[in-house]
Amino acid sequence: MYIYYTDHYVLPLPSGHRFPMAKYARLRQRVAAIAGDRLRVPDAATDLELARAHDPAYVAAVATGSLDAAAQRRIGFPWSPALVERSRRSAGATIAACRSALAQGCGINLAGGTHHAHRAAGEGFCVFNDAAVAVRAMQAEGRAARVLIVDLDVHQGDGTAEIFAGDDSVFTLSLHGRNNFPYRKQASRLDIELDDGTGDAAYLATLDVALSRALDQGRPDLAIYLAGADPFVGDRLGRLALSKDGLAARDCAVLAALTARRIPVAIAMAGGYADDIDDIVDIHFATVTLALEHFSQSTRTSVPRDASAVVVDYEGAPTPSLFTTPGVHPVNT
Ligand SMILES: [Zn+2]
Repeated sequence: MYIYYTDHYVLPLPSGHRFPMAKYARLRQRVAAIAGDRLRVPDAATDLELARAHDPAYVAAVATGSLDAAAQRRIGFPWSPALVERSRRSAGATIAACRSALAQGCGINLAGGTHHAHRAAGEGFCVFNDAAVAVRAMQAEGRAARVLIVDLDVHQGDGTAEIFAGDDSVFTLSLHGRNNFPYRKQASRLDIELDDGTGDAAYLATLDVALSRALDQGRPDLAIYLAGADPFVGDRLGRLALSKDGLAARDCAVLAALTARRIPVAIAMAGGYADDIDDIVDIHFATVTLALEHFSQSTRTSVPRDASAVVVDYEGAPTPSLFTTPGVHPVNT
């Protein structure tokens, strides 16, 4: 499996900007220490690739820096050539992660998950919708016909929902905080709105049901998982109050459910806004570590071709320990 990074395309931000840009480089440094040989720099997404998911006029306006002031403000980053390059590379990273997933079971983008980007507008720190661009690339290349997007960022994947509205080939699942941005939500194929302070146990039980339904109805050839760190209790913008163990159990549940059905997965990191950047990096690093363990074990035991060797019987009754013992990874037991 390959892990794609783009943090060295540095985005010039005004001092005091609230986006925690430093998280990406710190995450890559930690990943390099355990899996440096898997790290790759992705190609930039081309205009053609971007325009399969976005309005070509929007792509051109971003590329040339000609968005009007209001549209640029909605994105939340000032325009610069570096913003364009980085946004293209981040979309390219999810495309590459999907190709890696289809070849080897899993691929990872150490950024991405820019799910507020709509067809013709960016929003909320999202310029291009990397998951949507990657879905369209896989479909155009004939690598996957049906795709499931599992969006577990604390914010609704409103841009993704808008882009794929009415498209039966893409199942969009979003579990998010009812009271979180965006305040005007779009309709995903399956939206689960959660109350403030939901906590680990209720979240994981809900996720289990949602995943089963999405997999049954979506019948995907490929999944893209947005493993947002912002459901964390210490997040400034999240409200769901999950612990780090709960988030690890969440990742575990997603990978187990997908592996049990032999569905390759590309993982993007999505949001994370904890005051302490190390908390964000810890959560993302745990996701990457789990995927590495899961799929190296999978390779040894022929998973995803034969999931039964390492995965609990996920399609039957949920294994209670998965939900009552956060941090215990059933893939390792
Ligand atoms: Zn978010």
